Amino acid sequence: MLNWIDTRSDDELAAAARDLFAASFPDAPEPAGVWAAPGRVNLIGEHIDYAGGASIPFALEQNTAVAVAPRTDGLLRIASEYDGSVAQASLPLSEVRPGHPSDWSGYVAGTVWAATAADVLTCAGLDIAIVSDVPVGSGLSSSAALECSVAVAAYELCHGKAPDDAARAQLAQACIRAENEVVGASTGGLDQNASLFGQRGKALFLDFATGAVERVPFNIEAQDMVLLIADTNAPHTLSDGQYASRRGIIDAVQSAAGHTIREIPDAVAFAATVNPADAELYRCRVRHVVDETARTLDAATALTSSDLAKFRRLMRESHLSLRDLYEVTTPELDSAFTAAGELGARMTGGGFGGAVIALIPRSAVESTAQAIYDAAASRGFPEPTFLVARPGDGARRLA
Ligand code: ADP
Ligand code: MG
Repeated sequence: MLNWIDTRSDDELAAAARDLFAASFPDAPEPAGVWAAPGRVNLIGEHIDYAGGASIPFALEQNTAVAVAPRTDGLLRIASEYDGSVAQASLPLSEVRPGHPSDWSGYVAGTVWAATAADVLTCAGLDIAIVSDVPVGSGLSSSAALECSVAVAAYELCHGKAPDDAARAQLAQACIRAENEVVGASTGGLDQNASLFGQRGKALFLDFATGAVERVPFNIEAQDMVLLIADTNAPHTLSDGQYASRRGIIDAVQSAAGHTIREIPDAVAFAATVNPADAELYRCRVRHVVDETARTLDAATALTSSDLAKFRRLMRESHLSLRDLYEVTTPELDSAFTAAGELGARMTGGGFGGAVIALIPRSAVESTAQAIYDAAASRGFPEPTFLVARPGDGARRLA
């Protein structure tokens, strides 16, 4: 039996957040509102947000919702229904700093801290209750959904209105800083921009060289195509040094050149000169970044001209590059990629676990999911779970 991931309606999620708020903070007044921010799926452009590249993600219909009430004593109290239980945290905002708190509450506290430090908002404390239907640790960015839901809530409570696109760009920076400096996870900005700028029916073209965010139509349904997500459910962690080691090479090359990879004339040859003892490894890693950036620019053109056949070829090439040059896939991801038929398939997110996506005809959804399931079962991998994803709304107020 195939296992499909649930999507909760906005109303269900808002009610659940309010219920958790009432149960967790019985002494507090009613929440001032409920806000939500989505996870995201990246169609192409992987591991290049920190190298001046480009990505084409869209916001999912899966969201993290926060019921929030302001406080006046500088305290942050946080409750999150997550992983089958309710996690609680409480700390004064004045104690938030780089490296603290570095657990799950750092995504929340760090966002408020960084937005305050950047003068995007002021905050004298919050009570926050969190519920979510974004799969956690699956490469669908539950971390950005958490940061961005808190960011839009704190912004609106301070300013009395929802953030416009200029304010969203500032909030994205605060969320990135929270994840980089407070939690200590290296993230390049793809996730936070997707969660804050997403729009129903639209994909996003994010250009990390210019900071440009463009909303582009994503109506694959007109061609009877859908996007299937297969979460491998294999254990995933980006904080175990693997992500950092990939990023470390790219950062070393960029800092030696004084430019992003995208701006270095022959970046692959240059990379070999940065660390001659490890020249081949440096060449491979940078080759991925250079090629993936070119693929993503091609993919944007293909999407604009509704050339999904080309888009699907580029997705396949992206996976092969992430497997062979960047080496961030796992046996579970490669198994799902092969079982999905390769064309139109690729791993999504940072890798080392997580999900595979497949852009396929609607009529092939069941058979493709079954093939991925069977391949996992035959190799003794965890049972994958599935979702047909459509572009949903970005971070917003629910109630
Ligand atoms: P991804 O963003 O792809 O889901 P990450 O490893 O970047 O994976 O982020 C997952 C981490 O984010 C979790 O281990 C947890 O610390 C935190 N997190 C995400 N969602 C929640 C939530 N609803 N409540 C508490 N913590 C969360
Ligand atoms: Mg994340």
